[in-house]
Amino acid sequence: MNRDNRIVVHKFGGSSVATAERMRTAAGLVEADPRALKMVVVSALKGVTDALYALVHQAATTDQPWEPQWLAVKERHRTLIHELRLSESRVQPLLHRIEDDGAAVERLLQTIRLVKTASESIQDRVVGYGELWSSAIFNALLAQRATGSDRVHWLDARPCVIVHWHSLGPVVDWPMSTAAFERHAAEWVRANAGAVNSEAHTTTVVMPGFVATTPEGVQTTLGRNGSDYSASIIAALSKAQEIVIWTDVDGVLSADPRRVANARVIERLSYHEAVELAYFGAKVIHPKTMTPAIERAIPIRIKNTFNPDALGSVISNQSDDSLPVKGITTVEPVVLFNLEGTGNSGAPATAERLFGALREAKVSVLLISQGSSEHSICIAVHARERAATTAALEQAFRAERAAGLIATTAIIDHCAILAVVGDGMAGQSGVAARAFKTLADAAINIRAIAQGSSERNISVVVDEHNATRALNVVHSAFYLSDHTVSIGLIGPGLVGQALLEQIASQRERLLTRYGIDLRVRAIASSQAMHLTETPLSDDWSQTPRQRLCEQGTAIDLHRFTEHVMAEHLPHALIIDCSASADVAQHYERWLAAGIHVITPNKKANSGPMANYERLKPARRKGGSQYYYEATVGAGLPIIQTLYDLRICSMSTTVVCRFRRSFATPKRRASPSRIRATISPAPTWRANSPSWRARLGCRLNWSRLPWRAWFRSRWWRSVWMPF
Ligand code: ASP
Ligand code: MG
Repeated sequence: MNRDNRIVVHKFGGSSVATAERMRTAAGLVEADPRALKMVVVSALKGVTDALYALVHQAATTDQPWEPQWLAVKERHRTLIHELRLSESRVQPLLHRIEDDGAAVERLLQTIRLVKTASESIQDRVVGYGELWSSAIFNALLAQRATGSDRVHWLDARPCVIVHWHSLGPVVDWPMSTAAFERHAAEWVRANAGAVNSEAHTTTVVMPGFVATTPEGVQTTLGRNGSDYSASIIAALSKAQEIVIWTDVDGVLSADPRRVANARVIERLSYHEAVELAYFGAKVIHPKTMTPAIERAIPIRIKNTFNPDALGSVISNQSDDSLPVKGITTVEPVVLFNLEGTGNSGAPATAERLFGALREAKVSVLLISQGSSEHSICIAVHARERAATTAALEQAFRAERAAGLIATTAIIDHCAILAVVGDGMAGQSGVAARAFKTLADAAINIRAIAQGSSERNISVVVDEHNATRALNVVHSAFYLSDHTVSIGLIGPGLVGQALLEQIASQRERLLTRYGIDLRVRAIASSQAMHLTETPLSDDWSQTPRQRLCEQGTAIDLHRFTEHVMAEHLPHALIIDCSASADVAQHYERWLAAGIHVITPNKKANSGPMANYERLKPARRKGGSQYYYEATVGAGLPIIQTLYDLRICSMSTTVVCRFRRSFATPKRRASPSRIRATISPAPTWRANSPSWRARLGCRLNWSRLPWRAWFRSRWWRSVWMPF
């Protein structure tokens, strides 16, 4: 193996080391990395940090015995050690360590119980054991599995990561930390640097995340979820080339997958984009965590321990330019405060007082919007900070209100902020327009708008009950093809099945060549229906009727319609391949609701003219399309044919005679001559002498290549709408 001289930091979150099984998987992932020096930062086993905080809290605030929960935490680690089947020489030191540390924790908890309060430093000591133990166990596992000259060491991260605690959280003391890291770990880094192209071996240094020390030498933590921050600090100290964060999702997603069915992994995004997304609730990585990496331009790769083959996301200086918008997120519930009145205008002090008061009240403002007239200023805060904000504003503007200068402070509850994030929006026109148009099309009202001059984030405030819908429509506008069609098919008979087959065979091509994304998401017969979120699998096209019998539920056209009209898909279409006049009764409603209708159902347009006439205003209302066709001999589309003939004035009376070979037994039973008349009469007849002269022959309708023509016509008449 060629020695790869680079340094990498791997960080495993709590869920990636939660059980023996997962620890083994994680060990395999570290081993598979060919880089020479691997710094491995480990979180506490999933749930352990929570349990330790709860123990401290319980000991400080109640008289209930804390011992049972504490024993459970210890037992969980002991069981894990046994399940890992480590050699006796590795098991014993680990068990001793748990006993010794455990005794220390017990003394701390007893002290807390006695004094009925837990100082920060005592609490930090207790909770830090989660990482100290998990990293020691993981170290033992890696050491046991190490082969050849590969080396594994455990490093206590506490003396290397030195932080001051500020009101904004922990801040690294870089000079002290660098010096400490030199003392404790530089040996490996130096050995690694000096060993370029030498014998193939790797060094793995396992260390606990989350724990740190203050400059005074007191043990502390990096705050909740601090192990990512540890990884980033260690990467900076060891001058690593990359940080790999192993977690339980496939990467940074374009939206919350629980709310947006089409959310997808963003393969490459910039630090700025990741920071913006993280502030707006994309929980993959905390922005602060990234600071050391950003300053040193170290790429951060997010990978899924449970799906290591997935590409994951890389956060670095380079973004994916082909996607102007990387993610769409929401913050909710939020409350909007609108300060309005003549007192605002031309008074820069108003804003200062407003934000001063909010800072005093420790309220964080999520969004600010002020028109250039300065007549009103609008802010959004978390709903949980409503009371504090109201009180702070009352207090700050009491004098103005008394003097009638600030007329109102309108409070709008139950709002949500929708943020559209992406570097590519900067300097590109039309992105905001697209988002706003999509919201307008979905009839979602926008209450406030903010876009900073970095243009990386456009935030809009909408009503909370519209949040999911807003998220979905905006996500679709940027991530799906404009021609994504949610299709409901009624009537899985001969025509329906043929159509399903055509869709199955052409879908891929339509998508890649033309960006037309056809998704059959609902299918129904007169008895049963089947609704799916993901498009119907292609094997349905073989036996739709039978599968509907097996998997379908009772028909409910109302639910069917609702499902087809999926909010997150730009277009909805119902294709009625039934022969039912009842289904045709629904067209008016569907068209008015914006659902396009395509139908070869003969009953649809052969009823009273008034029924047909009613469809026109419905179509206009819904902005929808109505395409219909009827066939003769169960195969030949006749309406489009006649229409085309009429357009080119070919004939007024068309008599079709089918050759017997073309007719199926069923068709044979039907009349072989079909007469259709179109009026008003155009002037020319296909077999008039002048045209016979031009064609050089007499037109014989029965000889025309109906079959080929039928195919192409059928295709066009169905797909023309797009
Ligand atoms: N174990 C710590 C926590 O849960 C740190 C971490 O997992 O990142 O907050
Ligand atoms: Mg964690």
